[in-house]
Amino acid sequence: MSARDYQPVIGLEVHCQLNTASKMFTGCPSRTDAAPNELTDPYTLGLPGTLPVPNKAAVEYALRMAIATDSTIQPVSRWARKHYFYPDLPKGYQITQNDHPYALGGGLEVPGPKGAEHETTYVRLIRIHMEEDAGKNTHLHGEPDSLVDYNRAGAPLIEIVSEPDIRSAAEAARYLKELRAIVRYLGISEANMEEGTLRCDANVSLGPAGGPLGTRCEIKNLNSFKFLELAIKAELRRQRDLLERGEPVRQCTLSYDVARDVTRVMRIKEAAADYRYFPEPDMPPLLVDAAWVARVRSEVPELPAARRARYRGLELTAYDAAVLTADAALAAYFDAALARAEGEDAITPKKLCNWITGELLRRAKEDEGASLEPGRAPVEPAWLVDLVALVERGVISARAGKEVLGKSYAERVAPADIVERDGYRQVSDTSELSALIEGVLDRGAKQVEQYLGGKDKLLGFFVGQIMKATRGQANPQVVRPLLLEALRRRGS
Ligand code: ADP
Ligand code: MG
Repeated sequence: MSARDYQPVIGLEVHCQLNTASKMFTGCPSRTDAAPNELTDPYTLGLPGTLPVPNKAAVEYALRMAIATDSTIQPVSRWARKHYFYPDLPKGYQITQNDHPYALGGGLEVPGPKGAEHETTYVRLIRIHMEEDAGKNTHLHGEPDSLVDYNRAGAPLIEIVSEPDIRSAAEAARYLKELRAIVRYLGISEANMEEGTLRCDANVSLGPAGGPLGTRCEIKNLNSFKFLELAIKAELRRQRDLLERGEPVRQCTLSYDVARDVTRVMRIKEAAADYRYFPEPDMPPLLVDAAWVARVRSEVPELPAARRARYRGLELTAYDAAVLTADAALAAYFDAALARAEGEDAITPKKLCNWITGELLRRAKEDEGASLEPGRAPVEPAWLVDLVALVERGVISARAGKEVLGKSYAERVAPADIVERDGYRQVSDTSELSALIEGVLDRGAKQVEQYLGGKDKLLGFFVGQIMKATRGQANPQVVRPLLLEALRRRGS
């Protein structure tokens, strides 16, 4: 079999830390910005006599995710203990959901790559389950001791397990970005990979195209989109080399070595941990009735895929729709601007989109990713609409519009006020412009003669003179016909 005939197959296991006020099974506060070991209590520390009680808000957040991904919510699900011995786990076991998770099936639409956003794929989910997080060990280089922080121990997590439906490293990254967008739209997690509130393990295999799946290997703890992509590519290289040498791929757990861009085997399957799963005796099954699901469903906002479809209906490109919806705040900004521009026929959704995804987004990115959430954005949606209206009505030029937007952003002053204050208004007044044009032609008598003698190119010279005389504020659409008319009169 030639290398070309291998088909990469990828399935992701994604952990997402829920941003509830307290932990999964205790009232102990849950935050990501506390000093080490500030967020502990007897349950978190695994002290004898403590009992777990599910956090209702965490369960509701998990339900939102299941609803958003069309996953089937199970009326009865069960908690299980997963045992291992490690300092980050004071109880000696983690409470999770093993063979009775709260949600099964479902999936999500993933936009295609840049330039082909409309080529969406659908990645199905196997399951989503709830669990509590472990603490965090820090191994100090060259020191005999390690540090442990229990702030994260017991924090609420959902794990989203995809079917092996992903076919490339780039598609894996797009899937994870879409998951992040959904979670953020739902408001259930910060979903920040650097901070570890979104974490990913990738299962990778190579098998004959169209044939049975190859043996999967699992790369652990990928903490950025870039490393996810690089690690999958590196692992595909490793497996391809093995297969081409005629050696079997053995199921294993790997880590990704960023510095050398290779995956390394941590343990092979024979040595896989035995977690001795058993049902959690301290909690009854979790019961979720239809009324509860219906109530949570009514709180789920419009999600990225639905928004993309709606925006495409407004004659935006798939690319525009993908850019606007990638960030919930940006999509909300666009919607607020749309609502404000309602009835202004000259302001099309496409024009608004161009100003928002171009000038405004560029400035927000330079501004260390400042929020464009309506109400917090430096330039309010209503201001942006006013600005586009000023440009569309010819009150200011498009170039001036960009400058005005820059000032409005920096100073948080309404564009209309800046236009008046700093004199950006285009001169469109015909009598004012006619007088100016006559003056320019009087001063350029020689050029007028040459123009009338056939040197058409001099038209640009006159336009330049008029622009200079008005400090660039003459409206070219008004100037041109007036100028031609004045020159014609001088020639007759
Ligand atoms: P485990 O807990 O043993 O890792 P899970 O069921 O939680 O098992 O996760 C299995 C993951 O591996 C899923 O994301 C699934 O899509 C993926 N997977 C299964 N078979 C393959 C395969 N042949 N190639 C790539 N990924 C696979
Ligand atoms: Mg796994």
